Amino acid sequence: MITLRNYIDGAFCAPANGRHLDNIEPATGEVYSLIPDSGADDVAAAVAAAKKAYPSWSALTAAERSKHLMRVANRIEERLEELAAAESRDNGKPLKLARSVDIPRARDNFAFYATAILHDWSETHDMGTHGFNYTLRRPIGVAACISPWNLPLYLFSWKIAPALAAGNTVVAKPSEVTPYTAYLLSEILHEVGFPAGVLNIVHGTGPGVGEPLVTHPDVPMISFTGGTATGARINTLAAPSFKKLSLELGGKNPNVIFADCDFEAMLRTTLQSSFANQGQICLCGSRILVERPIYDRFVAEFTARVAALKVGLPSDPETQVGAVVSAPHRDKILNYIALAQQEGGRIECGGHPVDVDGAPNGYFVAPTVITGLPMSCRTNQEEIFGPVVTVMPFDTEEEALALANATKYGLAATLWTSNLQRAHRVAHELEAGIVWINSWLVRDLRTPFGGVKQSGLGREGGFEALRFFTEPKNVFVKL
Ligand code: NAD
Repeated sequence: MITLRNYIDGAFCAPANGRHLDNIEPATGEVYSLIPDSGADDVAAAVAAAKKAYPSWSALTAAERSKHLMRVANRIEERLEELAAAESRDNGKPLKLARSVDIPRARDNFAFYATAILHDWSETHDMGTHGFNYTLRRPIGVAACISPWNLPLYLFSWKIAPALAAGNTVVAKPSEVTPYTAYLLSEILHEVGFPAGVLNIVHGTGPGVGEPLVTHPDVPMISFTGGTATGARINTLAAPSFKKLSLELGGKNPNVIFADCDFEAMLRTTLQSSFANQGQICLCGSRILVERPIYDRFVAEFTARVAALKVGLPSDPETQVGAVVSAPHRDKILNYIALAQQEGGRIECGGHPVDVDGAPNGYFVAPTVITGLPMSCRTNQEEIFGPVVTVMPFDTEEEALALANATKYGLAATLWTSNLQRAHRVAHELEAGIVWINSWLVRDLRTPFGGVKQSGLGREGGFEALRFFTEPKNVFVKL
């Protein structure tokens, strides 16, 4: 069994306390690797290494930094099959998803920011013969990047790449639930001769590694993706020292379906937006709102297709729904299904664990569709983050908007209609950071990404991330 190691100052190392955590394969329920259960000492060593590397890394030209980042991108591409297999095994997601989405996207994150910094994005403010201002964008120092388990390497690289491209050095903490591809990334850094100390990877828990990292006095900025409660905790910890924060948090996203939509296209995409990655994507549409004239037809046809989804081993090419990430997470999902029934919900399909051949101890949950619940109930207000959706009818556009906006979250929303004016009108009024019209999860890396209300603080993506990881400095020149 392999024991993963931290990557600090260009070297692989065991945690100072010598302790390790089990890493469990969700499809089998078996421990298959050990990960460092690191603590404040390891964080201190990683921050010191990043601080030491900062002057030379930030002094490189953008073109030089770009070359280093492109080497990482290219190596990810060369090791794609191995990384995809590792991601699928570690997380439980179908191998074909890891191969087609997670790992290519991790490669793209590095390549996107490696090339973005080659384009000029500084500003000059002309004051005629009086003088002019120019605005420099300076890197800040050591960035803390903390990521969740649902899209492990995809979200890890989404933060790291812009932080490094902008000239910062990084201490990154992957989720302790899915540490494996972050470890493989440290191997890649080593293979391509990435400068020591520029990117340090420390494994461990939130309290063990996350908190010492976000409170460290030499860490002035934190980019975090994870749950809203954890985001609130980090916000509190960071406030006294005025650290710069970017928080990408939970969601309870509405999928608003009008009767005039392209029904077949909507149905196909709604299967994806409900159950891709076992419903464990912060952007999944977990509250489906359907205009009354097509409500019965939708419930019947959608339920039939959901019931036909193949739940299976992540490695099986036929599998559409893999294992959920852990036993506690499976139990949380099943508890929410029980709660939905107590709240008066009707299970249209699913609602139970699944026994998959050859994996008696795996964490499989049947894709579940629930009807008959009011928007105010807990099932419709709290993030379940699993293969569970609710379906509710509405009669008017106003009612659809009121229902869609009736949670504390505001990450993403999807809407389906063939009426162009309504599409833009509704998109305008939805309380969400991202709206997809007649589509879902079409991601252009140039666009701003993030949520409103309790789904987050700030924006990443495109030049927004480069803005977050730099400070503007205005300089006035008198002529
Ligand atoms: P989580 O909040 O439990 O953990 C996220 C990361 O934070 C992990 O690395 C964890 O170890 C660390 N952490 C935990 N406690 C910490 C603390 N006190 N201080 C510092 N770090 C701490 O989230 P999760 O269960 O890994 O991921 C699921 C959540 O992430 C869901 O709520 C989902 O919606 C959200 N998410 C949001 C986005 C987005 O872009 N908005 C994307 C993916 C996932």
